[in-house]
Amino acid sequence: MKIGVLAVQGAFAEHIAALRQLGAAAVPVRLPGDLTGLDGLVIPGGESTSISRLMATYNLARPVKDLAGNGFPVFGTCAGMILLAKKSSDSDVTPLGVMDIAVRRNAFGRQKDSFETELTIPVLGEKPFPAVFIRAPVIGQVYNGVEVLARLDDGTSVAVRQGRLLASAFHPELTADLRFHKYFLDLVAESR
Ligand code: GLN
Repeated sequence: MKIGVLAVQGAFAEHIAALRQLGAAAVPVRLPGDLTGLDGLVIPGGESTSISRLMATYNLARPVKDLAGNGFPVFGTCAGMILLAKKSSDSDVTPLGVMDIAVRRNAFGRQKDSFETELTIPVLGEKPFPAVFIRAPVIGQVYNGVEVLARLDDGTSVAVRQGRLLASAFHPELTADLRFHKYFLDLVAESR
């Protein structure tokens, strides 16, 4: 299985390492030609404003949007989730607009802009998942067929799936727990 990790900015190296630990051939994606022959794509966390600008500069926005809109598996984490959304609270970012979610950037404000918590994520099994939030967005609304996979204690949605699109507000690549990446690879395997 060959998985691309968008590598224009942000935490791409950690995703590549996690995917390789699970036996996938993970490769960085910097130019449109790097998308050829992939079975799935990860859009990492980082700064969504920079990633969206760089995707436009390197002509990656259109082909990634087309792939994601046509059933190709894509996993967006944190800034990557913002980029997948149909709506973002903030006009500084131009999201690709492929997932029926509305997100709020930097939703936890300054004092709490980074924290770690254990989340119950039923699709990953009973054991709680260590979720690292770094200046994270939240999912304000979900529409048409979007499944909420995880919520904070106050009910806020922080991980979702729509068909083969997967998104989390937190960073599964920054912990040793590989279950979220494994869940994505299972979606990819189903789609082949
Ligand atoms: N705050 C960043 C943004 O809005 C996201 C942070 C992250 O990806 N860790 O783009």
